[in-house]
Amino acid sequence: MAYDQKIETLTHEKGPDYQGLNEETILKSRDSHGKNVFETKKPKSVWLMIFDELKQFLNLLLMAAAIVSIVASGHLTDGIFIMAIVVLNISLSVFQEKKASDAISALKNLTKPHAKVIRNGETLLIEKEDLVVGDIVILEAGDFVPADLRLLDSVNLKIDESSLTGESVASLKDASKVLTKSTALGDRVNMAYSGTIVTYGRGLGIVTAVGMKSEMGLIAGLLNETEDTQTPLQLKIDKLGKLLGLISIVAVVMVFIVGLLYGMDLDEIFIISVSLAVAAIPEGLPTVITVVLALGMRKMASKKAIVKSLSAVETLGSVTVISSDKTGTLTQNKMVVTTLYDGHEMVGVSGDGYSFKGTLTKTSENVDWITKIAALTNDAMITDRTLLGDPTELALVVLAEKNKMNHLEIRKKYPRILEAPFDSDRKRMSTAHQMDGEDYILTKGSPDGLLDQSNYALINGELQPLTKELKRSFLEKNKQLAEKALRVLGFAYKKIDERTTSLVDEEKDLVFVGLVGMMDPPREEVKEAIRLCHQAGIKVVMITGDHALTALAIGKELGLTGNDDVITGPMIEKMKDKELHEKAKTVTVFARVSPHHKVAIVKALQSNGEISSMTGDGVNDAPALKQANIGVAMGITGTDVSKEASDIVLMDDNFTTIVDAVEEGRVIFSNIRKFVGFLMSCNVGEVLLIFIAMMIGWGSPLLAIQILWINLVTDSLPAFALGLEPKENDVMQQAPMDKDAPIVNKSMGITVIFQSIFLATAVLISFYLGREVYSINSVQVGQTLAFITIITGELLRMYSARSESKTLFEMNPFNNAYINGAFIIGFGLLMVVLYVPGINALFGTNVAYSMNAFLVAISLGFLPLIGGEISKVFKKIRATH
Ligand code: ATP
Repeated sequence: MAYDQKIETLTHEKGPDYQGLNEETILKSRDSHGKNVFETKKPKSVWLMIFDELKQFLNLLLMAAAIVSIVASGHLTDGIFIMAIVVLNISLSVFQEKKASDAISALKNLTKPHAKVIRNGETLLIEKEDLVVGDIVILEAGDFVPADLRLLDSVNLKIDESSLTGESVASLKDASKVLTKSTALGDRVNMAYSGTIVTYGRGLGIVTAVGMKSEMGLIAGLLNETEDTQTPLQLKIDKLGKLLGLISIVAVVMVFIVGLLYGMDLDEIFIISVSLAVAAIPEGLPTVITVVLALGMRKMASKKAIVKSLSAVETLGSVTVISSDKTGTLTQNKMVVTTLYDGHEMVGVSGDGYSFKGTLTKTSENVDWITKIAALTNDAMITDRTLLGDPTELALVVLAEKNKMNHLEIRKKYPRILEAPFDSDRKRMSTAHQMDGEDYILTKGSPDGLLDQSNYALINGELQPLTKELKRSFLEKNKQLAEKALRVLGFAYKKIDERTTSLVDEEKDLVFVGLVGMMDPPREEVKEAIRLCHQAGIKVVMITGDHALTALAIGKELGLTGNDDVITGPMIEKMKDKELHEKAKTVTVFARVSPHHKVAIVKALQSNGEISSMTGDGVNDAPALKQANIGVAMGITGTDVSKEASDIVLMDDNFTTIVDAVEEGRVIFSNIRKFVGFLMSCNVGEVLLIFIAMMIGWGSPLLAIQILWINLVTDSLPAFALGLEPKENDVMQQAPMDKDAPIVNKSMGITVIFQSIFLATAVLISFYLGREVYSINSVQVGQTLAFITIITGELLRMYSARSESKTLFEMNPFNNAYINGAFIIGFGLLMVVLYVPGINALFGTNVAYSMNAFLVAISLGFLPLIGGEISKVFKKIRATH
């Protein structure tokens, strides 16, 4: 309710300076109304994860095989072993899935929404869920309303309530109204509802309902989060898995038939076929990919980029264009006014940062007007204890103070009666004040726009019509300042009628008083980051609301452009889509753009085949952020809306962080390729080996449990270790990856073919030597030597898989501790399986063979590694021809 009550009945406090709740009342309220959270779906339990794993085709197959071997053929140990494999398999998968989901939910906590409240007389930023009934909340454009509020104050407050009422036009709020009980939800202009979006103006409200009791909570069904969908890469891998599965089924059927023809035992053939199927299907791949992406997310978070979805981690690797805002992202957003133009001459301003120390080289009536407007048409505040507000406005507060004008006192002296807040479409802000008995509109904003709205100019204290020449001279001075990379604002005023209600309509026939140029130095580290992007084949585009010349000057300083090509918002308005697409191929500086132009620019880039990331921070940036392949929001200065619409949130608002994230995305993508290639070679090699051996009548060179062991230990550990490879030092010297290219491309195909053939050959030789040379026709010795060769071969081959292009001589082969660890564990376990009594009986490796035979089997294990290296040389030669 509350909308049918007067403000006084809701709070015992008197506005406008509310004190808010204190500790005691906060706790009391939380006790009786609960926390401000929606009940969302619980995360998947471990039991459900286990159940899901049990349902997997492969596990069902293995369990069936275990039962068959126990019941039908009486092979108790085989059956138990296969069951043990199933248990291990499931434990590993569940462990990985849990790890991935924990990593993802930990990141979600980092981006928890916040709310601005007044408590104990202080303005605080608290987590949205800590809000309680009775709290006083401040609303600004771009905020999500954090709970249901009865408005206490509203200044041009507009709220988009489409998520609640379906009404697409934002509703204009009015705190002063008292409504009847029967007023419909969409018409309650003195309320703001949880989850709706403030699109304009500002407001103050008292919380009337939280969490599930809020209007949004009542339609709880909508709130359950959408299911996590699979990433494009995971879909590709699924497809690949299905293809491999199909091929393996054909191979298995053939092996089965051939086994029958050669008169092998039925249950032996059955177990071998099942093992072969298990060896061939890369069932662990999707999980390993999820884990590697999730760990990548964590790593990016540690570098201050919060990536919100696994798909975005993936897409980052293929970004070809980074489009970035200027202010705050490429520059430091620490503004300081250095020059004024008072219509007569340039005035220098000394001093640094937000300190009031510094002087102006001149004062005049114009300078006084400029600083008066600068102090009054301004929401920033600087005191000994607080520094509050937007850097542009902070710089203007400092300017006024340097002109001996106390910004707080003058605001008291000339109170604000109306305001039209700044927006990035109008590019100006106006306020109305009563000054010495008369009402004035004061405006500051982009000089080009403001001059168009002015009819007069104040020159040397004299009011003059703004002639074409005069206007041109102001524009010329604007140009001179902008060329020095300064952000320029124009200042104007006009007397208005006391009955004025809409200030935006009054922004015309103004008296122009002068210009202010402020410096916002580029971030030091950005120049290097841009150079890195260029080297990595990534285009960097600046999109700014600032003047074309300011943008160009900064762009040149940063090495983002070398020419004077620039496209402005007004130019885009006049261009046909096709023309913009064409221009977007080469131009890297876009200036004086409004948010809707950003969408057009992203679309133009995308139509040229680019994968574009785009930054945004304002309330109107959401469409562009959504349109971009990777929407990037600012963690510090960004609005809730932009954060919600983006894929990445930069905790430090820094361009360099985007580049770091792209680099990390590339590393992850290339690591995924490495272990996909590795596992593919394992699977194809094993199938090839058994298939050939069976075809030529040798029987299986490996026992079923040996195949299962290889699949579980020798394949999975290296795959994981490869997923954690450190970056290769040339990741940012290569062209971006093609997002749509198949994962198994020609290069990987060549590697897989080479390695599988070398692996199969090495193991076949080993088996042959064991059976024919180092024993008198003992299949068991043959199988043991084959087992030694295949395990050593796969473990050694892992070192070759560390790079798709660089040979072992071109890198430090031992600088990934995970790989070395996987090797030591794999080889140690091989020794256990070979030599620990009991265990070796289980694996059929308890046979005698000479040391010589052992060494030969180990040496043959080097062949697949050599195959991998030869494939790299082969690829290099192929590339040069
Ligand atoms: P970006 O962050 O997109 O690189 P920007 O921050 O420079 O660009 P806007 O904030 O949209 O872009 O500012 C555009 C223009 O509007 C500025 O060049 C300036 O002239 C004017 N402007 C900026 N801030 C204010 C303000 N608080 N009040 C009045 N005018 C402003």
